Amino acid sequence: MKLYELFGKGRTVFSCEIFPPKKTSPVDSIYRTLDGLKDVRPDFISVTFGAGGSDMVNQSTQEIAGIIQNQYGIPSMAHLTCVGAGREDVDRTLAQLKADGVDNVLALRGDVNPDYPPKTDFAHAGDLIAYIRARSDIGVSAACYPEGHPESPDLVEDIRHLREKVDAGAQHLVSQLFFDNEDFYRFLERCRIAGIDVPIEAGIMPVLSAGSIRRMVSLCGASLPRKLTRLLARYGDHPQAMREAGIAYAIDQIADLIASGVDGIHLYTMNNPGVCRQIADSISSIRTL
Ligand code: FAD
Repeated sequence: MKLYELFGKGRTVFSCEIFPPKKTSPVDSIYRTLDGLKDVRPDFISVTFGAGGSDMVNQSTQEIAGIIQNQYGIPSMAHLTCVGAGREDVDRTLAQLKADGVDNVLALRGDVNPDYPPKTDFAHAGDLIAYIRARSDIGVSAACYPEGHPESPDLVEDIRHLREKVDAGAQHLVSQLFFDNEDFYRFLERCRIAGIDVPIEAGIMPVLSAGSIRRMVSLCGASLPRKLTRLLARYGDHPQAMREAGIAYAIDQIADLIASGVDGIHLYTMNNPGVCRQIADSISSIRTL
């Protein structure tokens, strides 16, 4: 099933993101994550692609996307970055995904990893999207940034390039994490003005520890609203309290987004199905309204 078909059915789509476990993790750890997520009944699960490629992980992104689709019966989406991939690499990945029955990719540029020199076939995600759409019928999604991509000079330029990705064939967008819903609503407004009319899912990451969120924010440039910095200041040194406050914050964000009619919620699970289930249970009636 193509993911864009999930939208426009009168209910909020709820999806999860996981990453392939590192080589140092037990080989069955992906099954533990997926066993925990299956009861949550996400509409789809996406699998990230690490900058180190398959060398760093137990199972590749494509393998895991195939397991989700075939063994768990849940639609899956494989992230596919082009910064380290040429046309032949992309062709090989698409063939493998097709063989595994995976119907969707999140087409990304990715970030340059100093240990892996970039390839030059695709300068931006838009080039990758156009390439995939020209030779495959796989569903294509793309990333978007409510507060702007860190490399963009301004939001206007960023939205212009986002529109190019949609014109190139992206059928669905998933947002970078954000902590202030007002940033997301302003972004949606700009998208609609720019004529971007594909479904846009809101990316939500529960704050489970002060350290992890500071690292994440420094990487992706998301801003921390005062409501959240107050929680970090009060509970940051108390792991269990921080976890409870972070989960409550994510639930509050999600309830407000659903009330506002958001197309979908994409939960960054950090391979933590317990947290995902706690959040899903807390919004079960809200989700199905
Ligand atoms: P692009 O869309 O190419 O944009 C990158 C920058 O270039 C932006 O500033 C944009 O405005 C600009 N730009 C775009 N097109 C043009 C153009 N034609 N001319 C000039 N400038 C242009 N990274 C991973 O390594 N693996 C993952 O699995 C992964 N998953 C992600 C999932 C989501 C939902 C999100 C939001 C991000 C994810 N990332 C992942 C991070 C992502 O790879 C980085 O943010 C990367 O820097 C940009 O990728 P992109 O596809 O958005 O790039």
